[in-house]
Amino acid sequence: MKIIYSEKAAEYNIPGHPEAPFRVLKTKEFLKKTGVKFVVPNKAKEKDILLAHTEELLNLVKSENFFDADTPSFKDVYENALLSAGSAIDASDYAMKNEFAFSLMRPPGHHAGRNSLGGFCYFNNIAVAVKHLISQSPNCPIAILDIDVHHGNGTQDIFLGDEQVLFVSLHQVPLYPGTGQSSEKNCFNFPLSPGTDETSYLKTLDTAIEKIIKFSPKVVGISAGFDTYEGDPLANLQLKKNSYKKIAKKISEIKAGKFAVLEGGYSRDLPELIGNFLEGIEQ
Ligand SMILES: [Zn+2]
Repeated sequence: MKIIYSEKAAEYNIPGHPEAPFRVLKTKEFLKKTGVKFVVPNKAKEKDILLAHTEELLNLVKSENFFDADTPSFKDVYENALLSAGSAIDASDYAMKNEFAFSLMRPPGHHAGRNSLGGFCYFNNIAVAVKHLISQSPNCPIAILDIDVHHGNGTQDIFLGDEQVLFVSLHQVPLYPGTGQSSEKNCFNFPLSPGTDETSYLKTLDTAIEKIIKFSPKVVGISAGFDTYEGDPLANLQLKKNSYKKIAKKISEIKAGKFAVLEGGYSRDLPELIGNFLEGIEQ
């Protein structure tokens, strides 16, 4: 197992924003104590970003001159977004070699669509990584499991109708971004009511995982959000600290290379949640 992390991910701060440096900084400190191996990510190249996004979006982020209340521009936003996307690519390369890797980076990505940023996301890290894998292995089926509490609308936007990719998302409805209420083509959505507890969540996850197993993917990319936690300030599901170990154990039942990319999770307990998730991963 590898944790992919750069100090740069903790260097930018948007005052008052929940997507804050402590998320990766405290998690790195927490995981260091467990003796897990860290590696430094490579920065994504423009051509990698263009596998999933339009030139227009790339140039917009590069300009560092745009306005979105949730997803503001900041100094070096482009460099940070490239590094986070590159880290996801590196994680996917480990998965291809059957070694689990976790990209512990920010900004997150799953709300960024082909031509849109939003929801704290500039480039869609997991989509860039999956497109990268497809460009290397054109016939290789790949699944994306999105366990962030918000629907991965950006990922769905990028892969809707792409038969090589299966997108499966469990998320709270109603909640931002308001999409994902039903399934469409290759995108399977499992909306969950506010207040959903661990028992009910894990049951739904079983159904979602069955879908993935039927698809027989060579690689599974996990959009790993931890805002399903009962203590998360941005949503209303009721998962416990230990739920993440159980989730990871279930994911481990899928016989495929696996990698995970950090999405949301805004509670101060995030390091522990990620630690529990990684503990549950069986290789
Ligand atoms: Zn989220």
